[in-house]
Amino acid sequence: MPLICQVALPTPLRRLFDYLPPPRTPEDALAPGIRVRVPFGSRRLTGVLVGTSQRTHVPRDRLKEMEALLDTSPLLPADLLELLRWAWTYYHHPPGETLSTALPVLLRRGSPAQRTRPRGWTVTTAGRCADPTTIATALARAPRQRAVMEFLLEHDQAVSAETLNKTLGNWRGGLAGLGRRGWVAQVEIQAPAGGPVEPARPLNESQQSAVETITGALDGFGAYLLHGVTGSGKTEVYLQAIARVVERGQQALVMVPEIGLTPQLCDRFEARFPGRTGVLHSGLTDRERLDAWCAARDGDLSVLIGTRSAVFTPLARPGLFVVDEEHDLSLKQQDGFRYSARDLAVMRARLLDVPVVLGSATPSLESLNNAERGRYTLLRLPDRATGHRAPTPRILDVRTRPMSEGLSDTLINAVRKHLRERGQVLLFLNRRGFAPVLVCHECGWTADCPRCDAHMTLHAAAEKLRCHHCGAETSVPMQCPGCGGQEFLHMGHGTERLEGFLRKVFSDTPVLRVDRDTTRRKGQLKALLDQARAGDPAVLVGTQMLAKGHDFPNITLVGIVDMDQGLFSTDFRGPERMGQLITQVSGRAGRGEREGEVLLQTHQPDHPLLQTLLADGYSAFADAALAERKAAALPPYAFLALLRAESPQQAAGERFLAEAAGVASPWLTEGVQLMGPVPAPMERRAGRFRSQLLVHSAWREALHTFLDPWVQKLETLDSARKVRWSLDVDPVDMY
Ligand code: ADP
Ligand code: ZN
Ligand code: ZN
Repeated sequence: MPLICQVALPTPLRRLFDYLPPPRTPEDALAPGIRVRVPFGSRRLTGVLVGTSQRTHVPRDRLKEMEALLDTSPLLPADLLELLRWAWTYYHHPPGETLSTALPVLLRRGSPAQRTRPRGWTVTTAGRCADPTTIATALARAPRQRAVMEFLLEHDQAVSAETLNKTLGNWRGGLAGLGRRGWVAQVEIQAPAGGPVEPARPLNESQQSAVETITGALDGFGAYLLHGVTGSGKTEVYLQAIARVVERGQQALVMVPEIGLTPQLCDRFEARFPGRTGVLHSGLTDRERLDAWCAARDGDLSVLIGTRSAVFTPLARPGLFVVDEEHDLSLKQQDGFRYSARDLAVMRARLLDVPVVLGSATPSLESLNNAERGRYTLLRLPDRATGHRAPTPRILDVRTRPMSEGLSDTLINAVRKHLRERGQVLLFLNRRGFAPVLVCHECGWTADCPRCDAHMTLHAAAEKLRCHHCGAETSVPMQCPGCGGQEFLHMGHGTERLEGFLRKVFSDTPVLRVDRDTTRRKGQLKALLDQARAGDPAVLVGTQMLAKGHDFPNITLVGIVDMDQGLFSTDFRGPERMGQLITQVSGRAGRGEREGEVLLQTHQPDHPLLQTLLADGYSAFADAALAERKAAALPPYAFLALLRAESPQQAAGERFLAEAAGVASPWLTEGVQLMGPVPAPMERRAGRFRSQLLVHSAWREALHTFLDPWVQKLETLDSARKVRWSLDVDPVDMY
């Protein structure tokens, strides 16, 4: 009786598919983790064998045979398969799509899981040992051969075709001649050995104790929450903990929210682990991705730095996981397979029995709660590495104050003072473009997106109106479509407008705007960051791109132009995000020799959470925010899943969600509640109407016990086929 093979296939169905092995397959060839080709309806699909069993629910005569096994050894090691299995169960996501997210594109398409090793030419041992006069005589009448030979003899490493093209022109004929003599051969080019290793810094007391706690228990699972104020030297803690792991011959995986924003971080790792640091990010080609993936799997890298999906990289000798900026929402994938890379890193560390470090200056309420409950060990770095205190924002009550382009006189004067003292200033405004609303002065018409329930933002230099929700773009109207009037008002302020104003007021000082519009092209962000880091007086204007992890030693003033929106957010995570953003932006000030100052403009100076944040700091703020969550039975004191539906027809989504709610009753237990369906906060986006149904539970177990059969049932509903729907477990964005 042959074994039954369970295969994950790229289909939207939440199940595995049973197959028989190809005829005469030895049992040990059926290793979980290999790719297989199977017949599926009238098609052929490539899937992954995830397990074998003696039993199946499919009647014997309907079981089909697999066509071929595509790998001789597993593509995915057992620990990753286990993590993926856990993930598709926990997120109630189709196994095939889960695997697609986890695998590099080329592997999904069936490429072999091998690195391309670049090849080049080098002098053979025979050539190196040959007597120089013998060579000279032999090549006397072959000048091309002689040129190539002399060039290759100067190089210890193999030389690529590209280098030969650049330096020698027509070299192929000469090379062929040398090959026939046995003096040169084609070989793999070895990766260059790394440069000198930058020495570790002496640690301060709290850094030392953090490193010792982490590295004192490398042989088992442990989760550490490294809460270090901005500039406290968290990165140095990661580096030195990883150094111990590497000394033991193991590897570390470091996950960061967005690599592009912090090129500096990768440089610091490369300096400490030269030639053994790999980076996985969205700027790589598919081939480069697969090469980094293979290098990590083969153990050729000591440290791999990557964004979200890096959590699925196989490691030959995993020793430590690090999640930097663990509070950052971009660690959660917001479409397709909606997983939290942070939570999966913790789970993977648990499965592998190795430690995981979550670091942040503003830990998420979830992680703080886990620390409070003793699940995570809290490690604190209360002081800046430089010895200066992290600055506390001071409130600028701007009610009734004269304002110019959104800036109060007090803030403008402070900017002037800091520039005069040769400091740099950062003005933070989380809204790009010139003005968020264009209004007709005669009839009140506003420029709205035809596809979204949203205004279009005016981009003045580009002379365009752009929708920041769907990307729609139109030219700026000359006449009002409502009344034909020609006078328009620009309501509100964006970074482009602020930049223009600052250029006028501070005409001798460079004004650098850093947002998605000024950094779209490759290299632009790095150029701006380099100029800022050079330290000459300048005003930086930017969105949250500037709030993240940057180390500008000469910023002495941070001005927060407008955060009031965060106080009125309809999302229950709004206040948490506001507190994190204020703390992170403030943390850009005073990181060098000089103390920093932070000024926060607001029309709501008495808001209680703002008061707590500024008077008592982030931890006290987080405690207050957690108390509110507890009182309202919201995460982390309750567990949520959001069923979303969207459709070009307004009613279709809600019809599906209503039916989904209707069929839920057999599995609804005490402690699990459905709320909705309701329209999404922005109902129409990119031409689709969106609505949602919230599942709320007091217990995680109960939530998943409910979701499992319910989602299986949803797949069978007719109304499901008429909409785009998705389930988001532990949603971080309620829109
Ligand atoms: P964080 O990641 O906590 O914001 P960083 O690791 O970027 O902080 O460190 C902030 C600055 O302090 C960096 O310039 C870093 O080189 C420096 N630094 C870190 N640890 C030490 C130390 N022990 N002594 C002196 N400087 C340090
Ligand atoms: Zn008008
Ligand atoms: Zn739009």
